[in-house]
Amino acid sequence: MRKELSDKLDAEAPLTPADLRELLLLKEEADLQSLYEAAYRIKVKYVGKRVNLRGLIEFSNLCTKNCYYCGIRRDNTHVKRYRMTLEEILREARWADEIKLGSVVLQSGERSDAEFADFVESAVKGIKEISGGALGITLSCGEQNEETYRRWFNAGAHRYLLRIETSNPEFYRRLHPADHSYEQRKNCLALLKKAGFMTGSGVMIGVPGQTVDDLVSDLLFFRDQDLDMVGMGPYIVHDDTPLAKQFPDFAAHKEDQLVLALKMIAVTRLFLKDVNIASTTALQALREDGRETGLLAGGNVIMPNITETRYRDSYQLYRGKPGLKDAPENGMTALKKMIESIGETIAFGEWGDSPHFRNKSR
Ligand code: SAH
Ligand code: SF4
Repeated sequence: MRKELSDKLDAEAPLTPADLRELLLLKEEADLQSLYEAAYRIKVKYVGKRVNLRGLIEFSNLCTKNCYYCGIRRDNTHVKRYRMTLEEILREARWADEIKLGSVVLQSGERSDAEFADFVESAVKGIKEISGGALGITLSCGEQNEETYRRWFNAGAHRYLLRIETSNPEFYRRLHPADHSYEQRKNCLALLKKAGFMTGSGVMIGVPGQTVDDLVSDLLFFRDQDLDMVGMGPYIVHDDTPLAKQFPDFAAHKEDQLVLALKMIAVTRLFLKDVNIASTTALQALREDGRETGLLAGGNVIMPNITETRYRDSYQLYRGKPGLKDAPENGMTALKKMIESIGETIAFGEWGDSPHFRNKSR
């Protein structure tokens, strides 16, 4: 790494788009280590040696959309569709509360019918009720209208994840059918903030056709959107999708995909400093220790999957999702051990809002 650039990182000087680009293009092992270490220092300074957990409940794989990369897209007929009942969701949330996860994420395929809006609203209310308000609730249920977002917020959800997938509108159009709209998705981020949500977004990293300039523009997008949380992960092929054809030798590129995603996490931490950044399960799909490396590269949030084991097979956005057969309890034991082994502590029982959001609200 150029001395001027590493000095800039040490001094926490503002990074220009050219700096971001240069960091994302680092290749030498020693440079990558310096990059991750610099990002980790910033993470420790702004959010501490602490990891926040969100218990992930994948409550339904019914989806009306057809994103070219996603394994549960509408046209994939190989998927057994399911939706959990309210009781099943509450059972998992109760367990999350008992083991003091602090917060849960309800994620699903996208639907925009009234029944779905009502169902999510009752699930949010139910979780608040059974946990006496203790559990924080994040939603990740796609694009909705303003009223639905407001209703869900008023029911008690306070964070929302909606990845923009790519900040390049032209590239977005290549990853989605014609009736999926970049502008509408971007507008949803505005609606979420207006409704009061702590808002998270992010992109897939290493998508065929994506350039380093796209990734730089993604970082600027995160800053300009004033995001509180960033959730990004490597793109991973799912063979039952149209995009898989564009990455036939994916298996040979797993390590490259992992490194690019880690670089993006590190650069996001160095650029935005006080936001929450997820170390996503997709990292672990590429390498056993993917999530811990994500933490050591600047991530501070992990979303352990607490979905009942029997549904996991049917919620594969990408192939090779880890823990398909793990009982949630075993996953948690392994996770605790892993986090302690790298000298970090789990912030049990906390909502774990991003310092960025707290600083803004003052
Ligand atoms: N339906 C909602 C939430 C579930 S999908 C939505 O789309 O927002 C959650 C995320 O999974 C998507 O935002 C996308 O970034 C990610 N995803 C989908 N397919 C993927 C793949 N093949 N590899 C990596 N991430 C993928
Ligand atoms: Fe549906 Fe989300 Fe997958 Fe797109 S990414 S097909 S909206 S679940």
